[in-house]
Amino acid sequence: MASPFGAQAPQGGLNIVVMDPAHGGTDPGARGTGGIRESEIVLDFAIQVRRALELQGFQVVQTRQGNENPSFDDRSATANAQRGAVFVSLHISSTGLPGTVRVYVNSDLPPLADSNGLIPWDRAQAPFLGLSRTFGDLVQGLLVQRFKGSPETAQTASVRQLRTTAAPAIAVEISSVTVEDRADLDRMAPGVADAIARGAAAFKPAYVVPNSPGALP
Ligand SMILES: [Zn+2]
Repeated sequence: MASPFGAQAPQGGLNIVVMDPAHGGTDPGARGTGGIRESEIVLDFAIQVRRALELQGFQVVQTRQGNENPSFDDRSATANAQRGAVFVSLHISSTGLPGTVRVYVNSDLPPLADSNGLIPWDRAQAPFLGLSRTFGDLVQGLLVQRFKGSPETAQTASVRQLRTTAAPAIAVEISSVTVEDRADLDRMAPGVADAIARGAAAFKPAYVVPNSPGALP
């Protein structure tokens, strides 16, 4: 599959956030000894992140609303159908110091075009990596203020869900499912929601690309 993805936002700029509560359905994601399931906690986080984003004026589209498990491609298709969107995948990690949060952007993908000059579906993220990094650093910078011990800047990793997403895209990993009491995770949700929402608002000006060079307002 190939699509003519480009890195330019529509003139209206960023106004949609596609939120991806990871896993779900038959895939519980990471599981803690205390019975905590990643797939359930990310849905609860998503409610709070959504509210915070809407307060910032964003429209929020979710890749899943309940306990179903859309495929990676289904989730990317949801994002790629939007114009002027960013993509945020929410995870609860099985590793990392409990109480910390890490933002990931996809590792480098050489933007190989096929013989028609189109970017293949599985490299859809390639033209957006720089923007993803900017967005990820903004969110991570806000997270470290609230969650001490988190990294200062976004990390790079090969993230399957991000690779096929044609938008600035980050994965947010909250540590961790190993806590004994899920209240320890629940307490983190407002801070995570606030950082994502304020990060998206701060990123918004960086994602407005003029339609024609030199045509300044
Ligand atoms: Zn996960």
